[in-house]
Amino acid sequence: MEQKRNIAILGSTGSIGRQTVDIICEYPDRFQAYLLTANSSVDLLVEQAKRLNPKYVIIANEAHYAALCEALKDFPTEVKAGMNAIVEAMADENIDTVVTAMVGYAGLAPTINAIKHNKTIALANKETLVVAGALINELLSHSQSKLYPVDSEHGAIWQCLAGEKHSDIYKLILTASGGPFRTKTIEQLAHVTKADALKHPNWNMGAKITIDSATMMNKGFEVMEAKWLFDVDLDKIEVVVHPQSIVHSMIEFVDGSVKAQLGLPDMRIPIRYALGYPQRLYSDAQRMHVSDYRNLTFEEPDLKKFPMLGLAYEASRAGGNVPCVLNAANEIAVAAFLHDKIGYNDIAETVIKTMQWAPYVAKPTYDDYVNTNIEARRYAETLIK
Ligand code: MG
Repeated sequence: MEQKRNIAILGSTGSIGRQTVDIICEYPDRFQAYLLTANSSVDLLVEQAKRLNPKYVIIANEAHYAALCEALKDFPTEVKAGMNAIVEAMADENIDTVVTAMVGYAGLAPTINAIKHNKTIALANKETLVVAGALINELLSHSQSKLYPVDSEHGAIWQCLAGEKHSDIYKLILTASGGPFRTKTIEQLAHVTKADALKHPNWNMGAKITIDSATMMNKGFEVMEAKWLFDVDLDKIEVVVHPQSIVHSMIEFVDGSVKAQLGLPDMRIPIRYALGYPQRLYSDAQRMHVSDYRNLTFEEPDLKKFPMLGLAYEASRAGGNVPCVLNAANEIAVAAFLHDKIGYNDIAETVIKTMQWAPYVAKPTYDDYVNTNIEARRYAETLIK
């Protein structure tokens, strides 16, 4: 048995973070939780620290630092606080793998530092590649760091690529469940509520990504994520709606052959693959019985009903800082929608107006991304009544 791998989970109390904890507990001889971080969920972070005994924990929101110290005072786990502490922790030479499971733009700075310190990264934070894919790939080209996808679609593409030549890819076909509003009309969409949007038919996920799935922004982000992860032109990335969420994505090759990866809609499967790679880890988890699935269907996405998907292609084609603007406006709009400040259709409206307003930067540096993010958020906020 090789040495245990030390895992850092950034965002251990979120949906992907909790499921990564499940995988660490499933293979105690293989993995050790070394660092856990959370934004503000102190109680769950404390419970995880007591259970997994990590070297240290970091709470991003410093207001919770005292409570966290108090709760862990009789335990060997060290306690730190603040976003900077999370970024700096990526330099720790004992960390082998970083699972980036936090939500949104916040994933960018720690991921960059993890790449600089040659970590293996299991990327769940797709916004990192959406915002700054060009910069991330540039940094990766000068690093020993490896970036493995945790997203189910990209995990599927990664598996379909095993043993294949990149030049044999004809196109990537990303599947989308279509979310809770797939069968709604445009008229009905004007009146859907937060509660409706939070009811995802197949996947149990955090609030932000569930809303992004309802608008199909999530799929747009995944198109961009695929472009950077697999170095494939946007024109060769297609989205197909597959409501059963059993085929997680496909590759069509130049000879006309199509390869797909199937499985239950359970994020622990792609997490297990990313953490175990290049080995497949045996699991006693629930298995899929193929004969239970008699109707696997596929249809084209409706871009009139889901303008966010088209906006993602548009932003990606424009390049530069435009995807960063798109992401920033979307984060503000989704948060406002979750706080009942705007309606469902206002999400796309906010994003479109912010994209129209934002000054274009063709070749953004890291500081340009930081500024774009701040300014686009500020502008999007002014659109929220
Ligand atoms: Mg996904």
